[in-house]
Amino acid sequence: MLLPTFDYSEPENLEGALDLLAHHRGDAKLLAGGTDLLVRMKKGLLKPKVLISLKSLNELSYISEGTDWIKIGARTPLAHIVASVPVQNNARALFQACEKVGAITIQHYRGTIGGNILQDNRCHHYNQSDFHRSGRQACHKDGGKICYARENADRCNSTCQSDGATALMALGAKLVLMSKGNERIVDLDQFYTADGIMPHQMEPHELLKEITIPLNNAKSAYQRLAYRSAIDYPIVCAGVLLKPSHSENDRIDEARIVVGAMGRAPLFLAQASSFLEGRKFNDTDAFQKAADASMDSAATFAVHNVGSTLEYRCEMVPTLVIRALQEAAQAAKNQNG
Ligand SMILES: Cc1cc2nc3c(=O)[nH]c(=O)nc-3n(C[C@H](O)[C@H](O)[C@H](O)COP(=O)(O)OP(=O)(O)OC[C@H]3O[C@@H](n4cnc5c(N)ncnc54)[C@H](O)[C@@H]3O)c2cc1C
Ligand code: SF4
Repeated sequence: MLLPTFDYSEPENLEGALDLLAHHRGDAKLLAGGTDLLVRMKKGLLKPKVLISLKSLNELSYISEGTDWIKIGARTPLAHIVASVPVQNNARALFQACEKVGAITIQHYRGTIGGNILQDNRCHHYNQSDFHRSGRQACHKDGGKICYARENADRCNSTCQSDGATALMALGAKLVLMSKGNERIVDLDQFYTADGIMPHQMEPHELLKEITIPLNNAKSAYQRLAYRSAIDYPIVCAGVLLKPSHSENDRIDEARIVVGAMGRAPLFLAQASSFLEGRKFNDTDAFQKAADASMDSAATFAVHNVGSTLEYRCEMVPTLVIRALQEAAQAAKNQNG
């Protein structure tokens, strides 16, 4: 499979990249590690006229830590995040998620955290070669009016399989988006849309500059299921965060359960999370109740389009949620003695 033709620009700094984006708008795509973008281009799923490479923008590759935050530049390779002691200690779900992305040799060194969050949604009816897709009627994402994954669907239900996004949503991360002369901050919770064709609200002239993770003494964990752990995308995953109460450190003050690879975006499950608030870290009944509620909520969004059966993926939701909750609870108990 060959790449389509395109013009290539390699700006020297952020200003230059923003100028190019403002000029080319929807005709251009940003190229970070290329491990998602170039694969899609080779399959003929995307034909941008211009690629703007972030290769020289070392100013977007960093991890810094303050008393109550960690900031990560969008072009930071996943390998740097996995090796970061502040991330390992204080944002463990992200460390565990990045460690599991694809194959170490390629995704960890070329793949960046920005590209991970902004990778396109996937569906096994669509992520195929031009030749494969030419033999059947076009679906919504290909410009048609049908969906092979859900009967009578009026929109695309392709699945977000980003490990990083699920973990970062559990951690309550925010995104710093820049365009020429402008900057806005968006909660990752609010970043996604309900449409698998345009799964997030990034504008074509915008660039993701930074990810901010709040630190508040909480413990997090991430679990996922994939066919072959060394190379495949998750078919279901879960990120959780548990924050101890100030007054009673064996009680949960705040909980966040996020289930990934089960919908058009990672799913923050507010009701399931609420079953844990005020409960003790060793309340196994509350953990089970929250995990079962997670399955019920996630099942309403998922479609059969990323491998395995839908029934199996749904059944695995509580298992992964419980494992992640137990791991985060254990980390909180260890810290509190
Ligand atoms: C075999 C294989 C296995 C994989 N397994 C996994 C997996 O298990 N889990 C997983 O999460 N991913 C997986 N991936 C997807 C991908 O490798 C990773 O998500 C990687 O982190 C993407 O980063 P990148 O820098 O290569 O993104 P790119 O391909 O460079 O970019 C992805 C998208 O983000 C946009 N973009 C990138 N940076 C910015 C920015 N700063 N601002 C605005 N837009 C930007 C690009 O324009 C593009 O649309 C896999 C890919 C392959 C080929
Ligand atoms: S979910 Fe439906 S519309 Fe979307 S890519 Fe798959 S088959 Fe196409």
